[in-house]
Amino acid sequence: MRLDGKIALITGADSGIGQATAEEFAKAGADVAITFHTDAEGAAHTKSAVEAAGRRAIVAQLDVRDSSAVDALITRVVSELGGLDILVNNAGKGMGGSATVDELPEDQLDLVLDTNLKGPLHCARAFIRHRKAQGGQGRIVNISSVAQHLPTAQSAPYGMSKAGLGSLSRSLSVELAPHKINVNNIAPGLIQTPMTQERLDDPEKRDASMEQIPWHRAGQPIEIARLALFLASDYGDYVTGQTWTMDGGLTMNWGGA
Ligand code: NDP
Repeated sequence: MRLDGKIALITGADSGIGQATAEEFAKAGADVAITFHTDAEGAAHTKSAVEAAGRRAIVAQLDVRDSSAVDALITRVVSELGGLDILVNNAGKGMGGSATVDELPEDQLDLVLDTNLKGPLHCARAFIRHRKAQGGQGRIVNISSVAQHLPTAQSAPYGMSKAGLGSLSRSLSVELAPHKINVNNIAPGLIQTPMTQERLDDPEKRDASMEQIPWHRAGQPIEIARLALFLASDYGDYVTGQTWTMDGGLTMNWGGA
């Protein structure tokens, strides 16, 4: 699977799934625009890895909640890298604390919905405007979560945001088919990243998770990155509007024996 000559923007590419995707895309021949929110050092590490693969990289700080900043970033990427073909909407906030809905503070609700749902829409909107001006073609890969399917107590905003992202992916796939822009959605299960390290380091929580996952292990970021690569490459040309769950069987076993 190759991305030779393509230019990809990956949000939240300073760590975890985004970082692995940037590295995998560069190895497949793409130049990469890397964004980070707080972790400049992680982003610099990703840039080095992209360059070690022989590709160009630029790094930008971005808060996906800020639509003007997103618009400015797309302009910068096109100007500095010479175009933009692929968007990976990876940046996201975890559960954002745990609270039942009746106890949920408004700012916690806004933080998760604005980052995980409005953020990808901001990025998709700016990306689509650019691609339409180029006559169409392009790929959007959204990173949602199994939480879009599975109910979890005390984290309603996260599930709502990811279910919304799945819905956005389906709507966009129909809107953008005439422009030959594919839109797909990856729903990872438990993946070993900074977002989940605390759970995996806690023996009780880790054992409970492993019990639920038929594969009895956490996924690795590179496994999600390879699926993103498939969807962004020519191999994924005839697929759009789908959610691709990669979870070691977790969704088959939710609440099971
Ligand atoms: P990480 O914590 O490694 O990645 C999260 C990324 O999002 C970081 O790069 C972070 O930037 C960035 N980010 C957070 N808030 C903002 C913001 N307001 N604007 C821009 N960027 C922001 O965790 P993962 O790799 O696990 O997460 C990547 C995606 O995968 C997320 O969307 C997450 O919901 C999803 N996911 C993860 C699962 C898992 O088990 N790990 C399971 C299912 C889905 P910075 O580090 O600079 O602050």
